[in-house]
Amino acid sequence: MEYDFLIVGTGLFGATFARLATNAGCKCLVIDRRPHTGGNTHCIDISGINVHQYGPHIFHTKSEDVWRFVNKYATFNRFTLSPIANYHGQLYNLPFNMNTFRQMWDATTPQQAMAIIDSQRYHGTPRNLEEQALALVGKDIYEQLIKGYTEKQWGRSCRNLPPDIIKRLPLRYTFDNNYFDDPYQGIPIDGYNSFIDKLLQGSEVMTGCDFFDGLANDWRHTAHTLVYTGMIDQFYQYRYGRLQYRSLRFETETLQTPNYQGVAQMNFTDANTPYTRIIEHKYFQCSGNDIYHNPMTVITREYPQPYTPDSEPYYPVNDDTNNRLYSLYKALAGKETDIIFGGRLAEYRYYNMDQTIASAMRKWSQYQGQDNRHGT
Ligand code: UDP
Repeated sequence: MEYDFLIVGTGLFGATFARLATNAGCKCLVIDRRPHTGGNTHCIDISGINVHQYGPHIFHTKSEDVWRFVNKYATFNRFTLSPIANYHGQLYNLPFNMNTFRQMWDATTPQQAMAIIDSQRYHGTPRNLEEQALALVGKDIYEQLIKGYTEKQWGRSCRNLPPDIIKRLPLRYTFDNNYFDDPYQGIPIDGYNSFIDKLLQGSEVMTGCDFFDGLANDWRHTAHTLVYTGMIDQFYQYRYGRLQYRSLRFETETLQTPNYQGVAQMNFTDANTPYTRIIEHKYFQCSGNDIYHNPMTVITREYPQPYTPDSEPYYPVNDDTNNRLYSLYKALAGKETDIIFGGRLAEYRYYNMDQTIASAMRKWSQYQGQDNRHGT
C-alpha cells in the first residue's frame, strides 16, 4: 500500500492531521474537491488585499497547545475583532459590553446596566435561542441586536433555534469591545494560504479531486487509514436521511476608496437588510492609519442561504432533530476501525478554527495510542 493515510479535505482538520502524521514519518495523500487547498480559510489577492474568500477567519484560542502548534507554522499579527452592529443606522459596539449599554440606554456604570438588563430579563430555564438571549441580555438588546441577525443567519425563528448558539458571544460589564474572551488572537501575517502550505508540506496533495468520484469505493487499495473531513451523511450515502446545513453567498466588491466602513466587520442586525454583515478585508492585515497606504479597498457582503448540493455547507444546524440524526451516523462511524472522522462537517459541530485543530490533535494522539506501527 502506497500511503499510510488518505486524507479527504485540505481544511484545518485535514491539514493539521497531515502535518502531525508527516512529522511522525507517515506518508499522506491529501485530496480536496475544490481547486485549492485550505478549505474555507482560503484567501485570494485582490488589489494587494488578502481577501477571506469564504468569510472572515479570525484565529483565537484559549488552548496553549493549539497556540504553540499554530505558531510553529505561522507568525500571527495582533488583530482583535471588534465588530460594530448597525441597527437601522444606529451603531453599537459588539460584543455586548459597557459601550453597548451606554449607546443603548446611556448607562454609564455596570450597576445601572445590570439593573436595566435585570428588569428586562427572562427568568425561566431557556428552551430556545430567544429565551436564552432574553435571559442573558433582556428585551432591548435581543430585539435590536440579536433577533433580526439571527433569523437571517439561520433562516428560521429564534424560537426554533438551540439556545447554545447565542452563548458564543461574550457579555461583559466592562468597556471592552474584544469579540472573543480568548487570551490568544490574530491572523497569520503571511496569510492563511501560506500557513496551510506549511501544514501540507511533505504530503502529496491533489486538488480538484472528489473522493466520491471513484476513490470512495476502493480507497483501501491506496491507504492504510482514511481521514474523512467532509459531510458525514454524504459519506454514508444519506442512509438515515440528510443532516441540515446553512450556506452563504458572498458578494465581493473592490472600491476606489481607502476606507469604506472604518472597521473590519459591520453586522446589520435589522430584519430587512438582506445580508448579515459587511467585511472590509484590509483591516485584517493593517492597523491604525496603515489602511490608507492602499487607495482601494475590498468589501464582502454575506448573504445567508439555504444549503443545496451546489453550495457549500458552512454551518451545521445543531438542533435536537439534527443532533439525533447525527448520533445515528456517529454510531456507524464509531464502528469503523480504519477511518477517522474529523472537523465541522464530519463531526457535525459548530467548531471554531482552534477547536478543529484541537480535534485533529486529539484524534492523532488517539490513533497513535492504538497504532504501534509508528510508536508514540
Ligand atoms: N449574533 C447576533 N448578532 C450579531 C452577531 C451574532 O445575534 O450581531 C448571533 C447569531 O445568532 C449568530 C451567533 O450569534 O449566529 C454567533 O455569531 P458568530 O459571530 O460567532 O458567528 P460566525 O462568525 O461563526 O458566523
